[in-house]
Amino acid sequence: MYLFKFLKIIVMFKKSFIFYLTSLVIFSNFIYGKDCTPKIAIIGGGIGGASASHYLSDLFNYNVDIDLFEADKIGGRLATLNINDDEYETGGSIIHSRNKLMRKFVQLLKLEDRPSEQNMIAGIWNGDKFVFEESSYQLISLVKLFYRYGLEPFKLHRLINSILDEFDQIYELQNAGVGFENITSLLAGMNNKFPEMLEISSKDFLLNQGYSSLLIDELVETTLVVNYGQDTDVHSFVGFVSLAGAGYSLWSVKGGNKKVPENLIKINKRVKVIPAVVNKINYAPKDDGSPGYHVYYNTGKSEDTWKTYDVVIIATPLTHDQKMPINFGGFPEDVNFEFAGNYQTTYATFVQGSLNPGYFRLEESIDGILSCDPNKTIVSSLGKLTTVQGVNSNVWKIFSRNPLEINIINEMFQQVQLIKEIKWKAYPKYSTIQSNNNFKLYNSLYHVNAIEWAASAMEMSAIGGRNVAILIYNDYKKKCNISTYESSKKKLENKSTNEL
Ligand SMILES: Cc1cc2nc3c(=O)[nH]c(=O)nc-3n(C[C@H](O)[C@H](O)[C@H](O)COP(=O)(O)OP(=O)(O)OC[C@H]3O[C@@H](n4cnc5c(N)ncnc54)[C@H](O)[C@@H]3O)c2cc1C
Repeated sequence: MYLFKFLKIIVMFKKSFIFYLTSLVIFSNFIYGKDCTPKIAIIGGGIGGASASHYLSDLFNYNVDIDLFEADKIGGRLATLNINDDEYETGGSIIHSRNKLMRKFVQLLKLEDRPSEQNMIAGIWNGDKFVFEESSYQLISLVKLFYRYGLEPFKLHRLINSILDEFDQIYELQNAGVGFENITSLLAGMNNKFPEMLEISSKDFLLNQGYSSLLIDELVETTLVVNYGQDTDVHSFVGFVSLAGAGYSLWSVKGGNKKVPENLIKINKRVKVIPAVVNKINYAPKDDGSPGYHVYYNTGKSEDTWKTYDVVIIATPLTHDQKMPINFGGFPEDVNFEFAGNYQTTYATFVQGSLNPGYFRLEESIDGILSCDPNKTIVSSLGKLTTVQGVNSNVWKIFSRNPLEINIINEMFQQVQLIKEIKWKAYPKYSTIQSNNNFKLYNSLYHVNAIEWAASAMEMSAIGGRNVAILIYNDYKKKCNISTYESSKKKLENKSTNEL
């Protein structure tokens, strides 16, 4: 009798447990139902793709499946070169002290930072002479700066800081879950005058503000040549990003900046990295008319294959000059996938040896030479490197617009032990004609690298990736039970700027 009762209790318990489990499945399907747990493809594992993957995971409370396609190495334009067992940054190397997302990533990933090559003594060279040379004493450098350019550099410094203050708005907006469909609205969100900066050249902007041609042709030109391989005819927003990058308190990630994307992608175990080249994205709407995509890719081991996704994020440049172009198919005829413009080719040449001061008509060696007239100087810049661990070395990095001939390198350097060259499609070729403005290319199809047309930098790609994640999240929030996402939205809103 007791045994029978006991068995009945067990059966009842089992039934209610099954009921509980079934309810849980139904409930969680309702909350994170098929339509509310998007299957997302990210194409590109640079800092932009990694940032998108990180913020999507965060916003969807890790209830999101992400396939991240990477054709080459995770990190993209954040890469290192190994020379005699030491590593050196070959692409994006310096980070501004006010870049809050990069700072946050480094803290989150428990990485360390290292000051960038800041103690080096550099000079501005026009091919004939040094128009400005730093001293090892900061006070003397300031006096020399004042002697040549008067108070203008100090006035410019204040202007850059005021623009950086306005730029900080983007962090507040992103914390509050605001996403932008294009660059114009993103810049206007920081300051409604910023979009106008895309339409005026750096030179004209500064001339209008009363700055002298001497300062523009030497100091401003130098930062643009060094940071973007370009001149002062680029639009003035990127001009200011470039000037900000010439400031103090610059840093890099110890062990290499690429550690950020490498580790950020690993945080969410549901992010699957697929080493493959994506060559086509086909629009394939579902039976109910909602967007869907077929992503065609090749792993190099077999024929092209494809997978279906609800959302596709392109986190790589789309101009026609890219090494691995992506085609688009199946879209309505009026949808335009022409991506105007080109990327600037920059050669990074690494030389192990010592500088030949005589070539530059210098009496003794110096740590960095920056060009204000690259047509005459052949090189855009050359600088002595520290390893990614922050150790001094006798390796130099030369940036140039064209490949360097060996005989030139042998004239510029003595005791040359090693030469290695890396060719980059480095950053957009900027002008004042705006193109590629859209983060949202079509329903559920996004492009992180649109942001590079405002300015190319690690922080900009990180902001672009986060912006796209917010757009997707907001889109799903509309479709799905709002309370589902309320907690993560609150979480996002409650985060302070320092705790992004
Ligand atoms: C020489 C140089 C110096 C720089 N210096 C600085 C600096 O000092 N500070 C700074 O902040 N920024 C600097 N930058 C810019 C900065 O590196 C970039 O803005 C940033 O790294 C871009 O990141 P991303 O993720 O948007 O693009 P990428 O890093 O280019 O990532 C795109 C990824 O997509 C992959 N991919 C491309 N096509 C396909 C495809 N069809 N299928 C699958 N995968 C594909 C690529 O392999 C790549 O890994 C520099 C860049 C260069 C090149």
